[in-house]
Formats: sequence, C-alpha cells, structure tokens
Amino acid sequence: MKKQVAVGIISLSLGLLPFQPLQAAWDRPTISAVSDGLDAFWGEVLRRLGIRYNYPLVYSHSNVESTPCGPSVLAHYCVNSNTIHLNMTQIDRLVDRVGDSAGYFALAHEYGHSVQRHLGLLDASRSIMEIELQADCLAGTFFAVSDELGILEPGDLKEGVTTAMMTGDYDYEHTNHHGTPRQRARAFLSGFNDPKSCFE
Ligand SMILES: [Zn+2]
Repeated sequence: MKKQVAVGIISLSLGLLPFQPLQAAWDRPTISAVSDGLDAFWGEVLRRLGIRYNYPLVYSHSNVESTPCGPSVLAHYCVNSNTIHLNMTQIDRLVDRVGDSAGYFALAHEYGHSVQRHLGLLDASRSIMEIELQADCLAGTFFAVSDELGILEPGDLKEGVTTAMMTGDYDYEHTNHHGTPRQRARAFLSGFNDPKSCFE
C-alpha cells in the first residue's frame, strides 16, 4: 500500500485542478476554492489506487461552537462524520499573524487526516504524533502541487513552515502531543520536497 500511494502521488499529472490563486483574505470563498483543489488532488490520487474519495465536508465555526467530535479548536477532523471543522476566530488570528498560507496549511493538514482515513492509516496502533506528522507531510505535498501549479506566492512556503512550527508543542508526555515545532516543520518540508517520504 505504501509504495502504491507514493507512485499514485508522483505519477499524478498536474494542471487539472480548479485552483484559484490564494487571496489575501482567508474568507469562505477562499476556503471553498482551496477545498475544491484538495478534493480534486486527493480524489485523483485515491482514484488511481482504486479508492473512491468520499470528500470531507468543511464547516466554518465561530469561536464558541462545538463540533460533532468536541470543542472547536483551531481546526480538526472528525473521523466518524468525515468532516473538517475550522474555528474561524482562531484561523483569522493565525492568518493575521502569519499570512494567508496559515489557513491553507490548516485546511491541507486536516485533509491529510481524511486521506489517512481512506488509506486505513488512522489505526490505533499508531501514536497521535506519528499520525499528526504524517498529516503535516501530506499538507507539504499539497503545497508542492500548488507550487507546481504556480499558485504559491513568494513567502507562502515559509508561512506554511511558520504555521507548522507555531502549532508544535513540547508536551511529550501528553497523549495529544503533535510533535515539536521542529518536527512539524521538518515533516511539512519533507512532504513538500518528496511525497514518498510521507509513507516511509
Ligand atoms: Zn491533525
């Protein structure tokens, strides 16, 4: 499976995605354009593996709402409902600090979890950190595709790295430990430079 996935990603011909250039405001039209791109990219990768992609639904929440799988944090993926939830108050804050690619990173990371689910990679034998770093790696791959399509602006990749670092933590003992800032940045860049590395 791992090898097939890598082949699927690498042999993907580009230029078929309904992307729009990133815009300064991380608003709902932007979310929906980026989601379309993610749907198309991962849908094609999975199709080549013989898997039908059940596209995740993306919901934008205000700060206080909860989601089907818990309180609304920055962004998360609910496995059972195959839904992605964005806390727009927190996303906006992050985008203000880092730049528009912070939102792009968050959405691409959550799509990574949806892809993991379709590939049977969300199994309980894996640590949270392993799963999270792989999602960062898959987000990096999506940035690479975006770059090849010419829709990354100068600085967008760096913003992605910054976001990965800002969402890292040092709670080694905590079951929800996502990886240190450095580990997350490394996983993201690894997926950007070599999609195969996400499955090694
Ligand atoms: Zn995650």
